[in-house]
Amino acid sequence: MNRRRRIYEGKAKILYEGPEPGTLIQHFKDDATAFNAEKHELFEGKGVLNNRISELIFGKLGEIGVPTHFIRRLNMREQLIREVEIVPIEVVVRNIAAGSLAKRLGLEEGSALPRSIIEFYYKDDKLGDPMVSEEHITAFAWAAPQEIDEMMQLALRINDFLVGLFLGIGIRLVDFKVEFGRQWENDMMRIILADEISPDCCRLWDVKTNDKLDKDRFRQDLGGMLEAYQEVARRLGILNENRPAVGSTPVLVSSNTPEGKPH
Ligand code: UDP
Repeated sequence: MNRRRRIYEGKAKILYEGPEPGTLIQHFKDDATAFNAEKHELFEGKGVLNNRISELIFGKLGEIGVPTHFIRRLNMREQLIREVEIVPIEVVVRNIAAGSLAKRLGLEEGSALPRSIIEFYYKDDKLGDPMVSEEHITAFAWAAPQEIDEMMQLALRINDFLVGLFLGIGIRLVDFKVEFGRQWENDMMRIILADEISPDCCRLWDVKTNDKLDKDRFRQDLGGMLEAYQEVARRLGILNENRPAVGSTPVLVSSNTPEGKPH
């Protein structure tokens, strides 16, 4: 396992060469980083939770026809994915004012936006992922106008679906970040959802208490980050209801692995 070729290591994930051409293995680490990796901590079990949460969300999005890189989960921390060329743009969708938007425009945190707003950030750690406009994206050829349209349409569909999914389990989807990739099939290229969707890249607030159930617990030193991720997993039906949601290590519900064996 350890001799697999490592293709890329990011802050929270590692990509390994996959078993077949055109595939990769996405490995979820326990590392949490914030403020462009100035803040860094390990949360034992976070990778396991994000692997399962992202699997569930990508699976459901696939079922409603959103093309994604997800093929199947391989084990507690890893999933098999389609190899794509990542578009170097982070697409953020916002429903409620929070984080950098609230700060930049002087909006009250928690105020509803007049409509869902999409923003683009250029993926460059050295520059701290600056916000960019469609003009920048096309002028510097980071993505073509048609690709921007496709990403926006997909991002809004993903938002509509996730707002409903989370509301159904008592969670408000405040905002989230997604990444897309280019996948070639013969001469055809299409834009598909890549990376992950987990509490690492979403703001999730409890509907009743407004408790934060996402990475802001780490960013803002609120404590209880792992417990919050476990709570999200529990409400999504991933964690075993019979075991305590808060504990030293996450307890995962048995589910069928591709081999049909319970994990
Ligand atoms: N986000 C992310 N990765 C980033 C920046 C933001 O996943 O590098 C997510 C973040 O979790 C939030 C949304 O994108 O759900 C909007 O983040 P914002 O621009 O408010 O930045 P932040 O305040 O998190 O720095």
